[in-house]
Amino acid sequence: MNHHASLVLIAVIAGAVSMQSAWTAPPPQDATRTLAHDIFKQLVEINSTDSVGSVTAAALAMAKRLLDAGFPAADVVVTGPNDIKRNLVARYRGNPRSKKKPVLIIGHLDVVEARREDWTTDPFEFVEKDGYYYGRGTQDMKESDAIAVTDFIRMKHEGFVPDRDIILALTADEEGGKSNGVDWLLKNHRDLIDAEFALNPDSGGVVTDHGKPLSMEFEATEKLYADFQVEATNPGGHSSLPKPDNAIYHVADALAKLERVPFPVELNEVTRGYFTQMAATQTGQTAADMRAILAEPPDPAALDRLSQDARYNSTLRTTCVATMMSAGHAPNALPQRAQANVNCRIFPGHSQEEIRLDLVKLFDDAKLTVRYVSDSGQVSEHGSDRKAMVPPPLNPEVMDALRHATAKLWPGIPVIPEMETGASDSIYTMSAGIPSYGICGIALDRDDVRAHGKDERLPVESYYTGVEFYYEFLKRLTTHRN
Ligand SMILES: [Zn+2]
Repeated sequence: MNHHASLVLIAVIAGAVSMQSAWTAPPPQDATRTLAHDIFKQLVEINSTDSVGSVTAAALAMAKRLLDAGFPAADVVVTGPNDIKRNLVARYRGNPRSKKKPVLIIGHLDVVEARREDWTTDPFEFVEKDGYYYGRGTQDMKESDAIAVTDFIRMKHEGFVPDRDIILALTADEEGGKSNGVDWLLKNHRDLIDAEFALNPDSGGVVTDHGKPLSMEFEATEKLYADFQVEATNPGGHSSLPKPDNAIYHVADALAKLERVPFPVELNEVTRGYFTQMAATQTGQTAADMRAILAEPPDPAALDRLSQDARYNSTLRTTCVATMMSAGHAPNALPQRAQANVNCRIFPGHSQEEIRLDLVKLFDDAKLTVRYVSDSGQVSEHGSDRKAMVPPPLNPEVMDALRHATAKLWPGIPVIPEMETGASDSIYTMSAGIPSYGICGIALDRDDVRAHGKDERLPVESYYTGVEFYYEFLKRLTTHRN
């Protein structure tokens, strides 16, 4: 693989510079590797789940690393709304004469719950096995947190002075919980993290197929998340005397309509760019279909075929899917209540309320209510009118650095804009007027995505290549050129 070759080359050059005799200390490349390893291990082994973990412990551990590396205490702040949800904000000072606003890097420190009995290894133990690192957060996203801290320390040791400040914010409650760190910092300490634009390694990255790098994807826009509660109530009665009007049937009929009727297809600047670039990496029918949907008008048969693929489907439209149900109170009683949760990922340009009204229209059943459910579980009659963010213009400095670093580590692969179909903390920075780009140097096989799942793992070499990528990317981004 190309990026392995590049790594070896870097190691050889670095070794040649530092080596005075055969028995000298390991070359810098190995020192970086050791540092990167130790930080990653330390982070994975600090439980930062919402239930029993502490984000503060992880933030303090990373703060200590930076202080030990010589960052001044005033530039390393650990702050948050309570004892277990404190966030780290570290400022790497750039050239003091620079007029440029800072670059912000955000990364969440919290991880999704993981149960020992579900996993092959202990999820909170950093285990190296068969060429992989195993542990909760190895894909989402302690690897990128560790990479950012490693590269901060590495650049500091080199004496590198960026042409503007680089701010690193490692934060709480992206995955859940009530104390989202990015939101909290924007509301309480905007000055600490104010920036011209934000980079969020929680999305994007290199897609590989059996280890072969195919493309570097980066997030340029994001869908909007919304949960809706679909409910029917009924006086109920004895189940020996069924009536046609049944709460469970009302909800079930609505969900059947949801299954059969997809939302209309939409394209925007980012998804057009995505399909244009993807077509070049695909062959046969898929490549032809991607070109056919970009035509005016789009070819309906091509749309149908591409929509069979979950990823393409989600890129083409708003999706809503039933995710939870509860109904009835006894096996021998007619149900008095039936509820389902419908989870929607809203295409940019639409609001939660717009989609709620679409669902009401689709279900077309006066016996049903469709209510919005907030992230903290509060149910309300209406969703927000705030629309999913419209893509920001692609920043030329960011694009240059991204292309440069990608070409260095994975020569020849295309750089492809994507619309994140999940949701990330970029939604907060974007809403605050800070254009945000999901840029990640991790290469993952497309069939080995285990974020949020069991036995989460990352190829060992993918991690160290990611360390090199962000180092190259950040230095290019913050080195003044004429
Ligand atoms: Zn994440």
